[in-house]
Amino acid sequence: MHDTIFGKIIRREIPADIVYEDDLTLAFKDINPQAPTHILVIPKKPIRCLSEATTADRDLLGHLLFTVKTVAEQAGLKNGYRVVINNGADGGQTVDHIHLHILGDRQMRWPPG
Ligand code: AMP
Repeated sequence: MHDTIFGKIIRREIPADIVYEDDLTLAFKDINPQAPTHILVIPKKPIRCLSEATTADRDLLGHLLFTVKTVAEQAGLKNGYRVVINNGADGGQTVDHIHLHILGDRQMRWPPG
C-alpha cells in the first residue's frame, strides 16, 4: 500500500492543524493556504486520486463531499466557498492521496489557473 505525507498526518506521525475527524475522514488546514480559509478534507483510506477511485469507493466519495459541507459550516463560510479536487498531473495534483480543497473567506475568480 502506498504512503504519502497525508498518511503520516492520519497516523499522527507529523503534526497538522486538524479541524475535523470522523471514522472515515480527516480535515486539516493547508500548510500553504491559497485563501484566508484553506482546509483539506481527505479519506483515511489512501486512494491516490479521483480517477483511481472504484465503485467500492462511491459511498466514501459522497461522505467526503458531505464532510466538506460540514467542515465549511463549522468554519463559518456563510458567504460561499470553492471546493477543488486536483486530479493527476494535468490537474495539478501534488500529493497522491485524494483530497478536497475548501477555499473561502475571499472572492474566487473564474476561470482558475
Ligand atoms: P494538490 O496540489 O491538490 O495535490 O494539493 C496538495 C496540498 O497539500 C497543497 O495545497 C499543499 O499546500 C498541501 N500540503 C502539503 N503538505 C502538507 C502538510 N504537511 N500539511 C498540510 N497541507 C499540506
